[in-house]
Amino acid sequence: MLKNLKIISISLLLFVLFTQNCFSGELNNQASFKYPVHNPVPGGIAIIELKTKDKNKPDVFYKNKKIMVRKNAGHWQAIVGLSLNTKSGQHKIKIKTKDKKLKYQIFATKNKEYKKQYITLKNKGMVTLSPENLKRAISDKKISKKAFATWLEKNNIKLDFIMPVDGIVSSRFGLKRFFNKKPRKPHSGIDIAAPTGTLIKSPADGRVIATGNFYFNGNVVFVDHGQGLITMFCHMNKINVSKNQIVKKADKIGEVGETGRVTGAHLHFSVSLNNTRIDPELLLPPIPELKDK
Ligand SMILES: [Zn+2]
Repeated sequence: MLKNLKIISISLLLFVLFTQNCFSGELNNQASFKYPVHNPVPGGIAIIELKTKDKNKPDVFYKNKKIMVRKNAGHWQAIVGLSLNTKSGQHKIKIKTKDKKLKYQIFATKNKEYKKQYITLKNKGMVTLSPENLKRAISDKKISKKAFATWLEKNNIKLDFIMPVDGIVSSRFGLKRFFNKKPRKPHSGIDIAAPTGTLIKSPADGRVIATGNFYFNGNVVFVDHGQGLITMFCHMNKINVSKNQIVKKADKIGEVGETGRVTGAHLHFSVSLNNTRIDPELLLPPIPELKDK
């Protein structure tokens, strides 16, 4: 009898613990966002809980760039994109509330080392540019710069992207590449290997802000998701959207291709936050990676 009572009380305790866990889990799902997580490293995202209790959304700046702010579980939160040049240590954000008061908040960053890769290219014209190609590359750069600097005031921005392409990551973000031993800029996005013609989907709701045919990046599309969150799609075989078009999550943007300077069909996918290129995988579900890279 006593033994039975003990079993019943243990079962009851387990039941209470289990249901409580489920309940708090549900609460969390409703009140907070799935990802990204606070990852204050070069190329990462710092998620900073703001100490202001202001009802109105404050304006937040980091290195003079406007920062995404969202409400999470009743508190304002700043979502800061950190460049690959970010030094480990103390950093400062400026918070401007609606009553024009300025506050500062400090956050800490850590170091992260990215891999190195050496690539030999046969076509030398692709490495040292002719004056004509240089002119084209400069004009492409201007379009990119303008697109990445776009700011659209929008609330409830979803940061849990879906995969733009079903494929394997053939090259990760931040990789330090050397073409014919010449150091190039680190990889500003991820490469997803997939055959030419594979569907490219919008990872979230947004608006197409630019399309083009670039010397390096081939056929490109830029999508603005609001509050400085911009995505870029490169080397496309086909572009299925046009400037100013509104796209919903999973809408077709185009097809994978090998236009521009590439060694095979893939999607180069960049994510920019506060005009800073960050690791796209921070906003994506886990993706399989090629073993040899
Ligand atoms: Zn790439």
